[in-house]
Amino acid sequence: MRDLSAGPRVLLKRLRELMAEPLEPQERLDQIVRQIASNMVAEVCSVYVLRADSVLELYATEGLNKDAVHLAQLKMGQGLVGTIAASAQSLNLSDAQAHPAFRYLPETGEEIYHSFLGVPILRAGRSLGVLVVQNKAQRNYREEELEALETTAMVLAEIIATGELKKITRPGLELDLTRAVTIDGDGYNEGIGLGYVVLHEPRIVVTNLLNEDTETEIRRLADALGSLRISIDDMLSRREVSMEGEHREVLETYRMFAHDQGWVRRMEEAIHNGLTAEAAVEKVQSDTKARMIRLMDPYLRERMHDFDDLANRLLRQLTGFSSQSQAEGFPADAIIFARAMGAAELLDYPRTNLRGLVLEEGAVTSHVVIVARAMGIAVVGQAAGAVALAENGDPVIIDGDDGQVHVRPMADLQKAYEEKVKLRARRQEQFRALRDVEPLTKDGKRIMLQMNAGLLVDLPQLAESGAQGIGLFRTELQFMISSTMPKGEEQEAFYRSVLRQAGGRPVTFRTLDIGGDKVVSYFRGHEEENPALGWRAIRLSLDRPGLLRTQLRALLKAAAGAELKMMLPMVTEVAEIRAVRELMQKEVQHLSKFGHPLPKKLQFGAMLEVPALLWQLEELMEEVDFVSVGSNDLFQFTMAVDRGNARVADRFDVLGRPFLRILRDIVRAADKHETPVTLCGEMAGRPLSAMALLGIGFRSISMSPTAIGPVKAMLLGLDVDQLSRDLNAALDDHHSHLPLRDILVGFAEDNNIPL
Ligand code: PEP
Ligand code: MG
Repeated sequence: MRDLSAGPRVLLKRLRELMAEPLEPQERLDQIVRQIASNMVAEVCSVYVLRADSVLELYATEGLNKDAVHLAQLKMGQGLVGTIAASAQSLNLSDAQAHPAFRYLPETGEEIYHSFLGVPILRAGRSLGVLVVQNKAQRNYREEELEALETTAMVLAEIIATGELKKITRPGLELDLTRAVTIDGDGYNEGIGLGYVVLHEPRIVVTNLLNEDTETEIRRLADALGSLRISIDDMLSRREVSMEGEHREVLETYRMFAHDQGWVRRMEEAIHNGLTAEAAVEKVQSDTKARMIRLMDPYLRERMHDFDDLANRLLRQLTGFSSQSQAEGFPADAIIFARAMGAAELLDYPRTNLRGLVLEEGAVTSHVVIVARAMGIAVVGQAAGAVALAENGDPVIIDGDDGQVHVRPMADLQKAYEEKVKLRARRQEQFRALRDVEPLTKDGKRIMLQMNAGLLVDLPQLAESGAQGIGLFRTELQFMISSTMPKGEEQEAFYRSVLRQAGGRPVTFRTLDIGGDKVVSYFRGHEEENPALGWRAIRLSLDRPGLLRTQLRALLKAAAGAELKMMLPMVTEVAEIRAVRELMQKEVQHLSKFGHPLPKKLQFGAMLEVPALLWQLEELMEEVDFVSVGSNDLFQFTMAVDRGNARVADRFDVLGRPFLRILRDIVRAADKHETPVTLCGEMAGRPLSAMALLGIGFRSISMSPTAIGPVKAMLLGLDVDQLSRDLNAALDDHHSHLPLRDILVGFAEDNNIPL
């Protein structure tokens, strides 16, 4: 009986020799198709390569008319070849001409061939071309023959990917692999980044395709699978994933795939056909990906990603790839491409080299996006297919303003962006020039401009932006980026470091604001139908006094000998403030009993984010040393619009009458009680809404550091008294229908105020 695996093995051995020979690319391709045809006893073997203009061009043939090479072409989706490329699926037909997609190309002379076997040439699940064999007689190609042709196609994928075919590509044309693509996503952080692709999970390029000894490769695969399974079991038994949740679910799926016999069998088959273990993993990964990539079901798509991740892990095991080798070639202008990633992983990259982050998934509030924003790099999320379309080192432009990613951009686009970057830099330069200018309005009112922060990476911005302090330090971020609960000492060290770096400028620490959309993996409550109205922030802290007391103690110790400013998030009733104050007193007593030095001054404040507090303004102002309005949440609760839901979040205007009247009432109550008041929501960082806030009486606001420059430029040209008169009159006018926003824009225009 004929050894079924001998055929492909002999062929691959011959191809390996051909790859090593110093041949011109056309000659190499010609010899390859000749070998395949003879090995598979086919009268025809042809290679079609996908060009950047979505045309599949005949690059080499044995059996068809040679004059048709580089002339015969089919559009993606057209004919059998186009169908294979578009669907990334093989076609095995005994009577090709009877197939509805068949399209006759007269120049090739293929009408006499009936049977047809075509396979996609795949790389990372993406079609780069099509490999076809044909015979005159009507016959069905066997499963082994299909498998052998698919394996052979990998060799061609390698040739295409190395760029070798460039030499024989007609002038003016480009291959698909080097095609410029624009991916439309969502802008999660503004800014433009020019640089080079760094795949967060680098695709292992398997160059060692063809095996010397099947048994050795089978053993290598088995060993690698064994270690992979152990490492998954290890991860599953670790403390931080011992709870239920998404993370655990992903790992369980990994485990399921790692033990999947079908997967293992297909990889072994590929080894029997002559591939090395790593090439077998890659082949099966690519096939599976190509098949699953078109699935619409989001659950299955998610599982596809899990499978992909797992295959990558296996590849890393087999090739001994380490992130060390990746770090060595790290470009000076790196734009990270990832499907999704954790915040801590982003922090592991050398920050000075980062220019942008492209995510296939993510949301504005994802932790990694919060961190990227703190780092000041452009971010585009929901960039579908970005990872498969890019190769490490490809030039790329990320446009966080428009939510676009341009991979391998054309020269004119690159030029246009270079201009845009220069323009932005000039504007930044102008804002930087204002850094040391006193924040005084045109009519001499002093305004306190502070910045929001939450991570150590934010702190250098304090000096760079010229902010007078940190008006909101979101302490939950330290918890969100950590895989385990930060211990008391870690919290203390962190706060101490923040205060040291702030160099005497005030820092307002907000106690833990977790729950709602701020999820901490190791601290999951129950599923909630309305998490924004659920067990979060101060509610959670009061129910878990141990957690809160640990944080209070860490803050008190870190600020020993200095001033400690802290505030509570999501207060609903003044009684909650009193309850925390009592816990605070206990901590103070405890520390002094053990001789710990204490802060020399303590300022205790509350955030005003829940409308119920509006009917307790008198008590509130009496109770606290200061109030900070969290306008993001206050607006969400006042207008009953979910701040994270794009369909409703922009439905009402923060500059509308209801909300501005509420804010004005807060300022008036604070003034009456001489309680300092500030506002730290997003509206403080936009020049127009910041102008409105000054107009209704705010004299202190806190915003993202990049907003300080534009807001300062606005206030330097503003006559606050004049604006107050106009704005108060408009707010008190119960008959006007003119939108307040229009009135504000008109005021700015009339008075040449830069917005
Ligand atoms: C707010 O709600 O306005 C606020 C500043 O807090 P956060 O955005 O962290 O909820
Ligand atoms: Mg809030």
